[in-house]
Amino acid sequence: MMRALLALRSSIVVVIVVVLVPSITNSRGVNSSSDAPLTSIPFDLYHTSDALLKEIKSLVLRHPDTLAMETVKMGNRGYAAEVLVVTYDREMKHDNEKSKFRILMSFGQHGRELITSEVALQLLSVLAEEHNILNMDPVSITKELDNIVIKVVPMENLNGRKLVEAGDLCERRNGRGVDLNRNWGVDWGKKEKDYDPYEENPGTAPFSEPEAQIMRQLAKSFEPHIWVNVHSGMEALFMPYDHKNTTPDGHMSNLMELLLWDVNRIHFEEKCLVGSGGGLVGYLAHGTTTDYMYDIVKVPMAFTFEIYGDSEASSKDCFKMFNPVDKLEFNKAVNRWSEAFLTLFRLGPSRLATTAGLRKWDSTGGKVIDGSLESNKDNKIDGLDLGYQRANIDRQIEFELGLCGSKTVPLPLLFRLIFQTAELGILKA
Ligand SMILES: [Zn+2]
Repeated sequence: MMRALLALRSSIVVVIVVVLVPSITNSRGVNSSSDAPLTSIPFDLYHTSDALLKEIKSLVLRHPDTLAMETVKMGNRGYAAEVLVVTYDREMKHDNEKSKFRILMSFGQHGRELITSEVALQLLSVLAEEHNILNMDPVSITKELDNIVIKVVPMENLNGRKLVEAGDLCERRNGRGVDLNRNWGVDWGKKEKDYDPYEENPGTAPFSEPEAQIMRQLAKSFEPHIWVNVHSGMEALFMPYDHKNTTPDGHMSNLMELLLWDVNRIHFEEKCLVGSGGGLVGYLAHGTTTDYMYDIVKVPMAFTFEIYGDSEASSKDCFKMFNPVDKLEFNKAVNRWSEAFLTLFRLGPSRLATTAGLRKWDSTGGKVIDGSLESNKDNKIDGLDLGYQRANIDRQIEFELGLCGSKTVPLPLLFRLIFQTAELGILKA
């Protein structure tokens, strides 16, 4: 029923967009003409990157039984990057992570999305049992976490984040201007009509960027069962694909969707957008991490969560558009998404195990040894799929809808958002 409703809603939106867009493509949108002062980073709410990483490192050192960390460094052509990776394992000393269910998560892949790294810190504090979440019993949570290993990258794009802190509040790319979520080897380099290098520069080649190389290496060695790429700019629960407007075929696709609906039902009153990024976000994205994780690394369940967006902010006011600016909204975002992630950790293994009929996880790969999961392989796209698939590129609309919020989006707001997002050179989430 919900899916039918969602499909209906999407259809309505598409119809409205198709009708309206031709007449408004030159509009700068109702908000962007505002002369309202731009929001600077409220450092009473947000950590600096240095302070956040320091706090996470201290947390890890306080909990050597369950947390560990490493800093991975790479560089090329005069550019260096480093990525902190935190591992949560309640049996850290036994070194048996490949026999457990494995989850890999990245936060802060885009510099301007500061809230995501704050969620990472909160989530790690909850996992370390330094912080309780109101609605959840910590004992029951930790028991269910016994059989999983989680690797968290709290700030994938440290160099880009530094540029944001230095005042370039709209910067999403890495320290040399490459979008790390366009630098991966599935459908890399394809440019849509609205291509804007300031937003989506894919780099000189797939994996030209050290940050992407580090993440690929991490994923290939860890072989996760679940991947989550955490972003902000809107609110939604996405699964593959980003580079086409469909979800993958087969059983795994159904499993992913079921799990997203679990999270949606438990935490968001079924109000989140759920489905393929390319089908729902309003633009296609090429060379994304999640598409690569699913198609090439063969992560059975690969997701992109968009955790916050202010649809009423001016598109020039990047901090406000991508991050909560008051304490109430800030706390709501970090707590509610930490809870949602705990649900993902709790239900992910059972969703996969129940279907596969297995409780033990293949120590040789991120794949459960079961024919039912073979469908994933059928969808393989070669490392570089430059066959330019024609897609619905006329829908260059980004929906900055707070659809995981508790309120429904009123129709007048929906119309206004469509006008706003029909601007040329729209910001990406
Ligand atoms: Zn993003």
